Amino acid sequence: MADKPCPPRSRIGVANFTLDRAVVVIDGMTPSPHDRSAWLQGPASPCDSVPRVNQPRRLVLLGAPGVGKGTQADLLHRVLGACHLSTGDVFRAAGSLSECEQSPAMKQALGYMRRGELVPDAIVCEMVRERSECLHCRGCFILDGFPRTLGQAESLKELLDGEGVMLTAAVNYDLATSEIVARLAGRRTCEKCRTVYHVTERAPKVADRCDRCDGKLFQREDDRPESIRVRLEAYDRSTAPLIKFYRDLGLLVHITATGSADEICARTISALAVRAIRSA
Ligand code: AMP
Repeated sequence: MADKPCPPRSRIGVANFTLDRAVVVIDGMTPSPHDRSAWLQGPASPCDSVPRVNQPRRLVLLGAPGVGKGTQADLLHRVLGACHLSTGDVFRAAGSLSECEQSPAMKQALGYMRRGELVPDAIVCEMVRERSECLHCRGCFILDGFPRTLGQAESLKELLDGEGVMLTAAVNYDLATSEIVARLAGRRTCEKCRTVYHVTERAPKVADRCDRCDGKLFQREDDRPESIRVRLEAYDRSTAPLIKFYRDLGLLVHITATGSADEICARTISALAVRAIRSA
């Protein structure tokens, strides 16, 4: 049977990376607890509400894949109010579109992602530049998964300097490699509500089904063992030098990522509070 042509859609198109709000919802992505439309779908889809910020913080989260940055970003969002801005989430949202709805640049980006490789800087930086409104939103932000290379860090600095926005800190989460591999290989995500489980540490009540919505659990393509290895190598090669970059800027905060997610979050909040007092 011939492929059905793509139906025309009222696409809000700025450059290459904008998505259509309707598509994201139809594909079962529960809207996140905070409105991230402008981030997930692009600048032509502004957020309906700006988060109420308890303590203004503009953070970059660093650490190897699997260290728990996404979980921490969500918890920090709940405590601080700032928006959780993940570049991986933008790619995953684009991945839920049909092929003919993906721009050529996004298709290319998704190919890198599926192989567990980093998407080239030029593509990622352009995608973030398109969303620069989110960086000076009064809701503040927690960047998760960006920057990942020195080139991206330099590009972000240039963007923030140009917007007159100062980072509060770059938080680096530390964890042993063996523990990272165990965490990633066992991770499962609900395809409907995106709740994250772990086959042994946080197992669902019924195997492969979500406790919340009974959705089917899946393993992210880039969490398969062959992709994990590539991702950790990419991290060592490209992301570890960022630690020096942010240390030199006086922005680095180290956090040990052992223990429960709540404990790690509490550790982060108190380290940020100590830093705020010292720099006051
Ligand atoms: P994450 O959810 O942050 O682990 O990202 C999932 C995948 O998206 C990564 O393995 C990369 O393929 C791609 N990706 C996300 N953010 C970036 C980035 N800043 N630079 C390059 N690739 C990225």
